[in-house]
Amino acid sequence: APLIGVLALQGDVREHLAALTAAGARTTTVRRPGELAEVDALVVPGGESTTISKLAALFGLLEPVRARVQDGMPVYGTCAGLIMLAEKILDPRSGQETFGGIDMIVRRNAFGRQNESFEAAVDVTGVEGGPVDGVFIRAPWVESAGADAEVLAEHEGHIVAVRQGAALATSFHPELTGDHRMHALFVRMVRERTGAGRVPERARAV
Ligand code: GLN
Repeated sequence: APLIGVLALQGDVREHLAALTAAGARTTTVRRPGELAEVDALVVPGGESTTISKLAALFGLLEPVRARVQDGMPVYGTCAGLIMLAEKILDPRSGQETFGGIDMIVRRNAFGRQNESFEAAVDVTGVEGGPVDGVFIRAPWVESAGADAEVLAEHEGHIVAVRQGAALATSFHPELTGDHRMHALFVRMVRERTGAGRVPERARAV
């Protein structure tokens, strides 16, 4: 099975480790460049994007993660993690940096005070079996996505899930639900990329 790292600087790291394990991946935490070098893919958790950005710079991870993402390493960001994968933030705090990977402009805390936290059923392209339970916590939305970014889901007309190549991002937190289909989608993307665990033809129908 592919080895998927969870960026463990701040945020809901444990929940992602559990969801990835349930989806059939091997997992580890990433706090140093040497640990990043070991993984096939990376998850950037939810939390606070300004803090994650600062700590990534402090731990010497900003440039190494950028380089691996540009090199095609599969990456999945949820909420603050989505912000970290954006090429541009509409309202960045001063000095706030991102890893990039998806040609999109994001708006932080986009859903507003009345709607700081809520749950909603979200239909996601590529996820079978009905909508996922979207948990939104001071969530961003994608203000605009570039031509190469595929919109996978919208909520009330706002883009909340995007994929570009091997990079995946959601405004919501599947790691906080018992539903591992988003993580399973990501593990499939990782397997496609790495060729790891390719299933023999005759086993595919099972
Ligand atoms: N509002 C947070 C930020 O801007 C994201 C919140 C979350 O990850 N739940 O980083």
